[in-house]
Amino acid sequence: MSSWLIRGALVIDGSNREPFRADIAVENGMIAEVSPSIKGGGKEVIEADGLVAAPGFIDIHSHTDLTVFKHPLAESKALQGVTTEVIGNCGIGAFPVNDERRAVLIDYLRIHDFHLPSYGLSWNNFTQYADQLDRIGLGLNLAPLVAHGALRIAILGVEDRTPTDKELESMKNLLADSLEQGAWGLSTGLIYPPGSFAKTEELVALAKIVAHYGALYASHIRGEGATLMEALDEAIRIGKKSGVRVEVSHLKAMGKDNWGRGKEALLKLEKARQGGMDIAADQYPYEATSTSLTALVPPWAHAGGVSKLLKRLASPETTERLQAEILREMNKRGGPSRIVIAEIGSVKNIRLSGKKVSQIAELWNCAPEIAVMQLLLEEKAAVGAVYFSLSDEDVAAILSSDQVSVGSDGMGMNAKEDLGKSTHPRSYGTFPRILGVYAREKGILSLAKAIHKMTGLVAGRLGLEDRGFIKPGFTADLVLFDPLTIQDRSTFDHPHQYATGVVFTWVNGCPTVQEGIITGNTPGRVLRKRGGALHS
Ligand SMILES: [Zn+2]
Repeated sequence: MSSWLIRGALVIDGSNREPFRADIAVENGMIAEVSPSIKGGGKEVIEADGLVAAPGFIDIHSHTDLTVFKHPLAESKALQGVTTEVIGNCGIGAFPVNDERRAVLIDYLRIHDFHLPSYGLSWNNFTQYADQLDRIGLGLNLAPLVAHGALRIAILGVEDRTPTDKELESMKNLLADSLEQGAWGLSTGLIYPPGSFAKTEELVALAKIVAHYGALYASHIRGEGATLMEALDEAIRIGKKSGVRVEVSHLKAMGKDNWGRGKEALLKLEKARQGGMDIAADQYPYEATSTSLTALVPPWAHAGGVSKLLKRLASPETTERLQAEILREMNKRGGPSRIVIAEIGSVKNIRLSGKKVSQIAELWNCAPEIAVMQLLLEEKAAVGAVYFSLSDEDVAAILSSDQVSVGSDGMGMNAKEDLGKSTHPRSYGTFPRILGVYAREKGILSLAKAIHKMTGLVAGRLGLEDRGFIKPGFTADLVLFDPLTIQDRSTFDHPHQYATGVVFTWVNGCPTVQEGIITGNTPGRVLRKRGGALHS
């Protein structure tokens, strides 16, 4: 393994302390020394005058779970300086897999725009999935969470009901197995069926297992608009009753009526912390959200899985009710002119990608809610959408909080191979956007604080013991960037543009980006949480 000497960089070490000038020596994948003057002997020397050296960015909220099979270098992330992605978020993930319900899980993943490798879902548990990922060779590290959606599907499919005692026991055991094997926690997606079918008590029971392993409970909470406060209360209740460490995923206040409530949400979290709870949040720096178009469809219509959903969309018995409820949800998210169709699978409808729902309705000469239902039917429910439903004031307020980490909510993409596919720019721009726009241009936060929110803070949330800081003895996940030019370039109209300003990214001591160019190296691996259960 090569050794590196980064000379004269401005070191921002991930702890939120003042930047300082120093040399950094990397040996055998580790940070060997950080001091004002280090001798070069045998190392590759990089003159880093004017550049910032920071710990590699840890993306606490990513959906790279399956995309990584297609893009193992995760180019859009590497060029942002990301060295670790936390996957399995929002209750959507690729394990555990019960052979009898494999097809149900595949359907679930497909409506969330997760594409399987050519050989399908060839694993059952965390270890087999992680081994498979390690075999393909990764450009960055992955830290998987157990997805509650996959866990629930493995035991009771997509049924809209409470698990029996026996089923709950099976879910708890399956969760414990995954944590035992090295998963970093549990994620829920409480607006997405089957996660949305879970009552708080089920989540408390599972969170107790997570707490027992000292792992993280990350939640896409039950409401991010009108019911944001109640949804936060539920997350707090789960934390209080189980003793688990809680992460509120992609904190936001969605829909015009709720703009300005970002601060209120932060206060609620602060109060819970003062009460002794370990609760924090993460965020991506954009005014639009992105998820499946099925998020407009009420949960009851999802019961039983995708085939049942399609039947209900087509059935005269349910269409009227569905139209009314889809329209209501659409308006909550800003209305048909603020919802843009992104990912679309069929050749027939590919030209609709990038169009607003209102434009499609016009094109088809029908009401927008009917256009949504028609599109979902034609695409078998696999349609991605971007919802322009947030305010910049909230984005900035939430970003200013010391307790909010940065997470992209995106996935690793390749600008050349994905070109033409409509997507949210967060997959390409999240981290440079915080550094370039929010720290440098708007001055909303200092560079040291911005970096802390992408590194040391996140490592603490996850319980990653040897990453997230520039310190001797830590793993050499590092990024070297130009603070004057770092910038996101991806936009909603032209998303497939890599960020600029990252000069080097090292993963486990090996460069994945060198002089601003992807090296093709694959030093990444699946990180497996050590330590097993905590003994109290
Ligand atoms: Zn989510």
